[in-house]
Amino acid sequence: MASFTRYELPPLPYSYNALEPYIIEEIMKLHHQKHHNAYVKGANAALEKIEKHLKGEAQIDVKAVMRDFSFNYAGHIMHTIFWPNMAPPGKGGGTPGGRIADLIDQQFGGFEKFKQLFSAAAKSVEGVGWGVLAFDPLTSELRILQVEKHNVLMTAGLVPLLVIDVWEHAYYLQYKNDRGSYVDNWWNVVNWGDVEKRLEQALNGSKQLFIPPQ
Ligand code: MN
Repeated sequence: MASFTRYELPPLPYSYNALEPYIIEEIMKLHHQKHHNAYVKGANAALEKIEKHLKGEAQIDVKAVMRDFSFNYAGHIMHTIFWPNMAPPGKGGGTPGGRIADLIDQQFGGFEKFKQLFSAAAKSVEGVGWGVLAFDPLTSELRILQVEKHNVLMTAGLVPLLVIDVWEHAYYLQYKNDRGSYVDNWWNVVNWGDVEKRLEQALNGSKQLFIPPQ
């Protein structure tokens, strides 16, 4: 009996206008309800095809279905991390504390140097993709990654802690083609408490690394 659990669109942890003025309501609504939802549906559609294939009910193009799954599932995961990675201005923004701050200081030589490198990675993603701060379980260190699309250059084993979506759908309605200003303003809504929770989960070897804290 071939059977895979389906994915679901998680609710936003705040209202659609909560990140204004840095990210406007219209962007948040479309981004969550249309774009993220499409990745959930896409991942589920790929699972359904694989199920039918296993049951002998359908022939599938395995290569195409696996590519589809990789892209859509990664899109679902990245957005699932992205939403709670942000918080309304006042609650979000500022500088981190806790272990994440210690690791950033140790490894990047201070928060400003980290911020500069992470921003440069996010701003220079070729085409569409993500800037990512990840945890490396092999060394218990932080890594900065530049991911194209949702899944290209994502590095196996690294656990995303803080991600910024730099697809045009994440900023174009407000910032037009000025990705740089979007990235600079985004720091005002970074939820460092959420990043710290993810780091703690990663350090504890939690299997729920990709699930937003409840
Ligand atoms: Mn997106």
